[in-house]
Amino acid sequence: MQIFYENDADLNVLQDKTVAIIGYGSQGHAHAQNLRDSGVNVVIGQRPGGSNYELAKEHGFAPVSAAEAARQADMIQILVQDQIQPKVYTEEVLPNLTAGKTLVFSHGFNIHYNQIVPPADVDVVMVAPKGPGHLVRREYERGGSVPALVAVEQDASGKAMDRALAYAKGIGATRSGVLVTTFAEETETDLFGEQAVLCGGVSALIKAGFETLVEAGYQPEVAFFECMHELKLIVDLLYEGGFKRMHYSISDTAEYGDYVSGPHVVDAQTKARMREVLTAIQDGRFARDWILENQAGVPSFKAMRRKAHEHQIEDVGDKLRQMMAWLQK
Ligand code: NDP
Ligand code: MG
Ligand code: MG
Repeated sequence: MQIFYENDADLNVLQDKTVAIIGYGSQGHAHAQNLRDSGVNVVIGQRPGGSNYELAKEHGFAPVSAAEAARQADMIQILVQDQIQPKVYTEEVLPNLTAGKTLVFSHGFNIHYNQIVPPADVDVVMVAPKGPGHLVRREYERGGSVPALVAVEQDASGKAMDRALAYAKGIGATRSGVLVTTFAEETETDLFGEQAVLCGGVSALIKAGFETLVEAGYQPEVAFFECMHELKLIVDLLYEGGFKRMHYSISDTAEYGDYVSGPHVVDAQTKARMREVLTAIQDGRFARDWILENQAGVPSFKAMRRKAHEHQIEDVGDKLRQMMAWLQK
């Protein structure tokens, strides 16, 4: 494992250089403002018409098209939605991607699965914060940072890692540490994590638990609190200090139940199915399906989203959250 901190990165690498942030969304708004506060010259490529265009102006930027931003910049960070990156890259970035420039990504999907194939005379790097954009901005403002991953896919200049580390320092990431990875490792672990654990696994676990209680005749409201709402308290403890901290804080009864029932619910067969999920990611089947789904106009994606949001736990949760004043923003 290789990890870099503040002293390993030199912001001077970006002196007299311009960094284009293409897409002023969740990650884009954070990278752009952090870089600017670090003294880096930033240009925003954000399409007009939406709230993010207005937000960029509110934040004191003068957003231009992705093509114009790419033209002006030495380093081009692609922060539009992953599904539309190939189109934006081909139509707007590539015509302005002259030799010696650096392409930056915050997720390896399009490079790893060959949806974007850059010319050989540019650097291709990744700086991927391990957290959502609003946190990347908030932690930076507090003097800290969200840690990040860095990777070099293509080193045309011989300075690709220095450039990636300078960018990472500019967004603050070296304050808490920047871990070296590859595009393959970042892409495959990111997809696996969100599918098997963070999003897919957790959602399925919540729903199964909720349904089990409701089908057994318990009140849906009580089931909601137990299976969804309280999850935040547990996750906060895990975030602060792992299982040790969580076990210290919960009751001995809860801890005992954890040991005897957890492995019974998520068992060796679950793990075998996790390996199947991982295999479909590694051999490109998941990527192929998601790319084709997008080409078809996302029919299954929209149907599954509608069905997920029609679940009883959503109505129960909406109703109860209205009574929790601190959640009303
Ligand atoms: P968002 O969806 O939040 O933002 C994308 C932005 O790109 C929007 O402002 C969108 O404008 C803009 N955009 C779309 N098309 C164009 C175009 N043709 N020209 C200019 N701007 C355009 O994206 P995220 O920040 O979520 O994701 C960006 C990247 O960061 C992805 O690779 C993602 O995997 C990665 N990442 C995201 C994380 C996250 O927490 N969200 C965490 C780590 C990595 P409009 O509003 O008009 O659609
Ligand atoms: Mg992801
Ligand atoms: Mg309890």
